[in-house]
Parts: sequence; structure tokens; C-alpha cells
Amino acid sequence: MFDLCIKNGLVIRAEGCFRAHIYVKDGVICAFSQGDTTLEANTVINAAGKYIFPGFVDPHTHLNDPGLTNSEDFYTGTCSAAAGGITTCLEHPITIPLPSTYETLKQKKEICQSKAVTDFALFGAAVPDNIDQIDSMTELGAVAFKAFLTVSPDMPQSKEPDIIAHLENLKGKGPVMPIHCEDQSICEASTAAMRKAGKVSPADYYNGRPEVAEAVAINRMAYLAQYTGGKMHIVHCSIPQGVDIVEEHKKKGVDITVETCPHFLVFDHSIMEKEGIFAICNPPIRDRETVEELWKRVLDNKVDFIGSDHAAYTVEEKEAGLEDCFNTPAGLTGIQTGFIAFFSEGVMHRGMSLEQFAAMTSTNTAKRYGVYPKKGDIAIGADADFVIIDPRESWTVKEEDLFYMCPWSPYIGMNIDGKIEKTIVRGTVVYEDGRINVEPGFGKFVKRINND
Ligand SMILES: [Zn+2]
Repeated sequence: MFDLCIKNGLVIRAEGCFRAHIYVKDGVICAFSQGDTTLEANTVINAAGKYIFPGFVDPHTHLNDPGLTNSEDFYTGTCSAAAGGITTCLEHPITIPLPSTYETLKQKKEICQSKAVTDFALFGAAVPDNIDQIDSMTELGAVAFKAFLTVSPDMPQSKEPDIIAHLENLKGKGPVMPIHCEDQSICEASTAAMRKAGKVSPADYYNGRPEVAEAVAINRMAYLAQYTGGKMHIVHCSIPQGVDIVEEHKKKGVDITVETCPHFLVFDHSIMEKEGIFAICNPPIRDRETVEELWKRVLDNKVDFIGSDHAAYTVEEKEAGLEDCFNTPAGLTGIQTGFIAFFSEGVMHRGMSLEQFAAMTSTNTAKRYGVYPKKGDIAIGADADFVIIDPRESWTVKEEDLFYMCPWSPYIGMNIDGKIEKTIVRGTVVYEDGRINVEPGFGKFVKRINND
């Protein structure tokens, strides 16, 4: 007797689609069958006419726990994730205390574990003075060590020598080094020029963090990946040139990957008129021409995966930029709507294949961060993580449906084709019909699997 059978759906893997009934026991996928009859199971879900994707793996979450929980915590954040089809959150290191040591990462892991609704993995911080902590943090299960080239309030800036030292230290050990790529000196000069000219409205923000700042930084980092032979990932790339630089380096055999975010694809600069400071993020949302060029790279399979880069602040915090947009904390909310908005625009409107969608939202991500094949696939032996989507349903994002602690979002009012019907983590329905069905702590910590 199986615990769960999901019958009659279209099963989508990065490698192909097939019609099948899926069977789950003890949280793991253990059989498929085809035909008119199904094997016995305690719970049966009829997915006729629906798509069954591997649960989304979000490689870029900032759920603010511990230390910044006035605007989001690991419970509200993972509830929002579950409602957005995400079954595994890869949580970034901007929290207080900074997870740059074994002790602080362990503390963060325990706090997240007590509140998680979805499964999760953790990134440690790669900072100038913590090389000696990396091995013990890897042992604890960290899947990556992230560095920032920019100055930000809660994370020390890294410079080239720090990046080289970390890449060389990590070589052959498995974890990836994701990097926030914007050149600090170009951003500072551009922001100062905008302020001097009195151009400080939200529509001016992107000129204070121009595309060249991102392109220069990605170029330098790609070279360092080549130079060291290290394993690098470019987070939240907003520009086509960034994807092209990564592509050139991949062709040379450099171990480098790139992600973009739904908000760089489903919005363009005109969103600033409607949303103002609430659409400000780093790097910024670009103009329509850049967005279209980025879509070309996505549809050409040159972007490895997408990540929400969900980063919540209170309304009061965001309003620090009302007089001068450059004073607003950079970040927007989107973990609940970003992946399905990407489905709507990519699959329903731009002809992206279902397989590519599965690869970019789950399989490629799980592989890169070393949690595959436990996560990221619908296959025998994998965790029974699924998102069931009804492609025939259209809906509008409403504030009251959001699980965010601070329910503002640039996505409110957006019409989306395709609806998340159920999110299933290890065989348990965690989200359906606008409700979360599990208690805090249901989600489990996922360690890096040593598979490379
Ligand atoms: Zn981020």
C-alpha cells in the first residue's frame, strides 16, 4: 500500500514529459504506472489536465531569519515559498549574526529548522577573514559560500584577493561560490552624479546602478573563475551581456553558471511609475530593450536557472527612499508569485518548453548546488516534491492572498496564466486552496550531497 498516488497528470522532467500515475511511500517516489487502473494508496490526487513539475528549488531567498525578522521570518517566508510552488529554499547569508562561522551557521540552521514549512539548504557567507571556517561549515552541510562585490549594510564587501583566496580554497571541495556582481566604484560614481543632477526619483534609480557596473563585475569574476579553476555562480543577472560573458567562459571550459530573476523578465523599467521605491532592487529592473534581449538568452537555453531574490522590508524601511530613491533598501518581494509569473510569460506566452521550465526552476538548480537527485527531479528514489499547475486557470495577484509578513509586492495586480494548485513536499501536501497544511518545523534541512 502506497501513501500517495497522483494520477492522470502530465509528468514533466527536464529530460521529457510522460503521462503516468506517481506513487509515493515514506516521502520518496517509488513507482510509476500507466493505464486506466491505479495501485492502492491511502491518498489519491487526481491531476487530470494538470502539469506535475518537480517541486521548485529557489536558489535565492533572503528570509531574514535570524536578526531581521521585523519584515519576514523563516515561517512566513517558507509559507510564501510553498504557495509559490517552491519545495526547497536555498537561503542566502544576509542575516544577523552573519553565518560566516561554524557557530553562527549552526545557530541559523537550528532557528530555520524550527520554523520551516518547505525544505531548505543554507549558504554560508564568504567574507575576507573566514577561510578557516569554510571546511567546518561545509561539513555542516552548506551548499555554497556567497560573496558581495558591493557595499551593503549587513555583509562585508569582498575584493579580488578575497575572491581568489576563497575560490582556491574551495577547489575540489564541492560548494559553489555565488557572487553578487556590481562594480562598487561605478555604482558610487553614477549615484553621486544622479544626486548632483537632482535625479533621485525611483525612475532614476537604474541610472545610478548602470548596466556597465554589472557587466564589468561579471567580466572580472568570470576571469577569476577561469584563472583559479574554481566553481562560480553569477546570481541575479539582469543584463544580456552578463549571460554572454558566462556563455563565452563556459565554452572555454570554465566552471561558471548564471541565474536571472522573474522580476527581470516579467517587468521592465515602466514598473517604477506604478510601484516607485517598492520596485527598487539591486541590480535594478532594466528597460524594455534589455528585457527582450535577456528573454532571447533565456529561450536559447543560456541561463541556467531562475531565483526569486525575495528580499522583504517593512513599508517604513522602504519609505526611507521617498525623498531620495538611493536611500531605499534594495530588494523586493516575489517568492510567492515569481516562478508562476515566469511560467505564465515563458511557457504560456513565449513558447518555452515544459522541459526547459522544469530544468530552470528545479533540476539545473539542484544539480548546481549538490542536492540532486534527492531534489530537482521526478524519478524513483527522489524526494516526492511536486508542484501541480493547472495551465487553464488565470488569476490576478491580490494582496490578501500573500503570505508575506509585509504584504506589499510589485506583483499585486498582475494577471497570471497558470495556477499553482498544490505544492507537495516529501509526499505531504503543504499548500492547496490558499492554505498551508503543515506546522512550522515540517520543513527539513537539506545537506549538500557529495556528488562531484
Ligand atoms: Zn539577493
